[in-house]
Amino acid sequence: MNNKLAKIIDGKHHSKKLLIKVTQLAENFFNLCQRKPCITVIIVGDDPASKIYVKNKIKTARESLIKSTEIVFPKDLTEQKLLSEIERLNVDQNIDGILVQLPLPKHIRENKVIEAISPLKDVDGFHPYNFGNLTLGNHSIVPCTPLGALYLIKKEIKNLNGKNAVIIGRSNIVGKPMHALLLKENCTVTIAHSKTKKLSDITKKADILIAAIGKAEFINKKHIKPNSLIIDVGINRITNKEKSKIVGDVMFKDAFKIASKVTPVPGGVGPMTIACLMYNTVKLSFLRQKLKFEEKLF
Ligand code: NAD
Repeated sequence: MNNKLAKIIDGKHHSKKLLIKVTQLAENFFNLCQRKPCITVIIVGDDPASKIYVKNKIKTARESLIKSTEIVFPKDLTEQKLLSEIERLNVDQNIDGILVQLPLPKHIRENKVIEAISPLKDVDGFHPYNFGNLTLGNHSIVPCTPLGALYLIKKEIKNLNGKNAVIIGRSNIVGKPMHALLLKENCTVTIAHSKTKKLSDITKKADILIAAIGKAEFINKKHIKPNSLIIDVGINRITNKEKSKIVGDVMFKDAFKIASKVTPVPGGVGPMTIACLMYNTVKLSFLRQKLKFEEKLF
């Protein structure tokens, strides 16, 4: 056990700083091209959580001098109609980024939709072209949540060479790209998942532990190495005595006592995800116009 309590990594503060940089870049783009960078968000159906996420994205874009448009489709939209709409947006020269809010209704294949988005407008970085380049260690558009998580890690630890990093969760949007990013930073990276045996034996060795599981407060004192850095990606709504609140995948009070640094939920990785989405939009607007883009983020 650690005598000192952990430092709480303030994702809101870091996201605000990043958004100031993004707004400056958006203004530079406007001065060069006489138009704002532009993101279009497509939402299919009326999932309440998705609606809130999209509202936040649109609002943040507007505050960052990024034009944002929203296209709302009913939940019975056909896959073909959605693909045609993406094709139309792909060829619209005034649109720099296309985001299709996930999850989609079950009858629409997510991979078909992701592959239909032009890699040059793929603000989420989910297209196999961008994912492949990330995995190869090349320049690419990086998925927003892992990018935001790495941003927070690098603010705390400049040199990650040889650090033991353990990621719990192997999703395409968090776990796998996080693995590629940390490998590029010279960490020794392990991915654990639902079939992993003796999880705590693995996580106990983690200098950096990233939880992206989707299970409320699953990671507790038996999983945490003293003085480690904990990044909690999870967003889970729990209800207790008719009161509902959002918690992460990590039991915060345990991490607070044992780790040296921890991200809170809410207010940790969440705000960074949106800030990185804005960063990706501005980056694509520069790249599409073949303008020089200042790549240094950390
Ligand atoms: P997912 O459901 O696609 O993946 C969950 C992963 O957890 C899987 O790879 C699974 O193997 C693993 N897992 C499940 N049970 C496990 C167990 N008992 N032991 C070890 N591993 C286990 O989820 P996702 O899309 O990667 O999201 C994960 C969490 O992060 C969710 O809570 C989600 O809401 C949140 N999230 C947050 C942001 C953000 O902006 N902060 C963005 C994306 C996702």
